[in-house]
Order: sequence, then structure tokens, then C-alpha cells
Amino acid sequence: MKIFKFGGASVKDAEGVKNVATVITKCDEKDLVIVISAMGKMTNALEKVVDSYFKSPDALELAINEVLQFHINISIDIFKNKQHLIFSDIKEILDGLRGFLKTNKSTNHAFVYDQVVGYGEMLSTLIVSTFLNEQHISNTLLDVRECIVTDDSFRDANVDWQASQIKILTAVSKTGITITQGFLGTEAKNNFTTTLGREGSDYTAAIFAYCLNADSVTIWKDVPGVLNADPRYFSTTTLLNHISYREAIELAFYGASVIHPKTLQPLQRKEIPLFVKSFYEPENAGTCVGKGTTLDPAVSCFILKRNQVLISLSSLDFSFMMEDRIGDVFKWLHFYKMKVELIQNSAISFSVVVDNKYANLEPLLSKLRSKFKVSWNENVTLYTVRHSEPKEIKQLEKNKIVLLKQESRETVQLVIKD
Ligand code: ADP
Ligand code: ASP
Ligand code: MG
Repeated sequence: MKIFKFGGASVKDAEGVKNVATVITKCDEKDLVIVISAMGKMTNALEKVVDSYFKSPDALELAINEVLQFHINISIDIFKNKQHLIFSDIKEILDGLRGFLKTNKSTNHAFVYDQVVGYGEMLSTLIVSTFLNEQHISNTLLDVRECIVTDDSFRDANVDWQASQIKILTAVSKTGITITQGFLGTEAKNNFTTTLGREGSDYTAAIFAYCLNADSVTIWKDVPGVLNADPRYFSTTTLLNHISYREAIELAFYGASVIHPKTLQPLQRKEIPLFVKSFYEPENAGTCVGKGTTLDPAVSCFILKRNQVLISLSSLDFSFMMEDRIGDVFKWLHFYKMKVELIQNSAISFSVVVDNKYANLEPLLSKLRSKFKVSWNENVTLYTVRHSEPKEIKQLEKNKIVLLKQESRETVQLVIKD
């Protein structure tokens, strides 16, 4: 049994969906679980639905219609026949969304978010599964919410591994092709939909691999594999043939967004290899993440994270920033779901770079101001370079305003003002 995962970029248009069939045919695997994300930018479009629901109800219908129209248009391109049943199925699914929004009484943003954004995955898997069946790539569509059990931390749910494994082993057929949604789960108390965090479909693939003792996971991307730098920001890049689990976890954690950071731990525990391959060139080897060599070839890796926030604190009365006070800071960072990217401290000051993913900066700052003198910079870029040469760092710093720099044996981090 192998696990394949196709992300948003691989199914962003009809060509992409047809290419999924080509990839599966070329790979000639008989027993597969295929995890699929929402098409293209549909999760962002559904985030707009949530925003409209809370902030501008007049725009709600328009936002839902954008989602509807995208899936209708892509289905016209895929199926051609306008009488196809898929069209009524798509409308029916989105009527479910309308129904939820009409009857919902909860004001919990994260709860509503998770009930809404998952429609992207429900629609994409229906369309891809239907298309593949018509192409004689016979498959069963499985609702992942019957398999992945989580707690009720909406928008960032934690997996109950034991419960999920039992359900996955029952629901997934050992033979043939199963298609299911990435990103989603269900909380055990009331069976509400949860999500595993943005870009979480890679993680879904790893969950299935772990629970099914799969031979391997392949995530199909629009790049040849894991490169030593994000090609959107660096003009010359090198394909990494092999990366150890440890190095890959570090790269993903620091922001190499080609792999979701949570993906690697479950795979490492069972030594299941992860392949990152191009859906344009499925016959190429791509990258293998597994046991062994740290990095092949042994090159420096550059990771860039935009839109970070640098917060600097100092004590109001010149007293030391001791463990107890730093402990309070971490408690608040945790409470406001700020992902900490870098920390640095001195006798009376403490700096931290955070990812303000859940738009909680204001309440966090007001909490911090009650205890410290606070300054901050929004929209800074965090560069992380692994295994670098000094001259590469010099080159990177050239003509940039470096707000903070930190070096350890394997890693140099620079916080740059944009
Ligand atoms: P998916 O379609 O699965 O959501 P993503 O868009 O999340 O795929 O991931 C692929 C993208 O990751 C690439 O297009 C590339 O811009 C970006 N990326 C960031 N860092 C790297 C890296 N080190 N190597 C390859 N791609 C990277
Ligand atoms: N569709 C979700 C997102 O865009 C999950 C994923 O693509 O991995 O975040
Ligand atoms: Mg993605």
C-alpha cells in the first residue's frame, strides 16, 4: 500500500485534474490511498466566505457563488456534458454550506471556520474521484471525517492516533484505490468537522501512512522535488536528491513550505520514506526523505518566511529578564497561538520573532504592555540558512537592513526589514 497526495496546485484546473489520471496511470500502482486538497486557491475563497459571514453579510452570497462558479467551470472543462450529475452534486454540497450558515448560532470564529473551509476538499475529491472512475481508474471515495479523529482545537486540531488508527484500518480497503480529503478531521464529542492547520494535507497523507504501515508516501508538487531554496525567491536552486528525516524536519519547521512540518514525525517513527516529486515529470526521481545521508548533494539551504513580527521587550524598571518573566511571555504567546520562530535575550531585554497566523497581535501586545516596554516591527522577513558558508551570509545581508541575527553551529537566521 502506498499513499499519494495531490495538493491544490496539482488540481487547480481541468488540465491538472486530467494530469492526476496520467500520473496514476504512469505509476501503475494498484493499492493506493490518494489524499487530495482543495482545488487551486479554493481554501482562500472559503476563508472569504467566513470573513463575509462575520463581517459583511451582504457579500456572503457573492463569496459562496465564487466557490460554486469555480467548481462548475472546472467541471464543464473536465466533463464537457452539461447534463452530468456532478453539477447537481456540487450545488447540493454547497446548499449544505448555506444551510449551516443559516442555522448556525455559534460566534466561535475557529469553529465556524472549520465547518466552512472543508467544503473545498469535499468538492475537489468528488470531482477527481468521479473523473477517475470515468477514466476507468476505479476508486472508492472515502469521507476522511469518518477516519481521522481529533480534539476540538478548531483550525489546528490534534490527532487522536489510537482512535484514528482503528477507524482507518476499518474504513480503508487494503486493495484498490481509495480517494479521500486532506486537511480535515472530526472531533469526537459532537462529530463537528475540524482542520489540521493550513496546508495540512501533507500531514493527512502521513497519518494514513502511519496507520496503514504504508510502504511510502509521495507528495506530488509543481517543483522537481525539495530544492535548496524556494524557487519563487531564489533564481538558482539545486534539487536535493536525499534528505534525512532530521534535516527535513528542520527545513520544514523553519519554513520550507514544500513540506508541511507535521508530516515528518509520524513517517520517521515508522521509517516510511517520503518522496517529493513533480506532477509534470512523474518518471523523475525527485527527492527522497528517509534514513541516512543528511543532505545529498551537501549544499546550503535557504529558507525565507515573510510577514513575520519581531517583538522586543525590556523590563520597565531595569530589572533582569529572568526565567519567570520569560515564562509569562511564553504563556501568552501560547495562549494567542503565536508560533515562535526565533528568540534572543540579554540581561534586560527579550526579542522574539513570531508568525501572527491567527491575527492575534493586538491583544498580545496589550497584554505584554502591562508588564514590559514593548517595541515591534511587522512584515519582517526571516531568513534561515542551514549549513552555510560565511560568504553566502555576507551576500544575503548585502543592501538589507538586518534587525537581528543569530548563529548556531548549523543554522544562521537573519531578521530583515522589508
Ligand atoms: P501544494 O500544491 O501541495 O499545496 P505547495 O504550493 O504548498 O504545494 O508547495 C509547493 C511550493 O512550495 C512550490 O511551488 C515552491 O514555491 C514552494 N517551496 C518553498 N520552499 C521550497 C523548497 N525548498 N523546494 C521546493 N519548493 C519550495
Ligand atoms: N486546502 C488546505 C489549504 O489550502 C489544505 C492543503 O492544501 O494542504 O490550506
Ligand atoms: Mg498547499
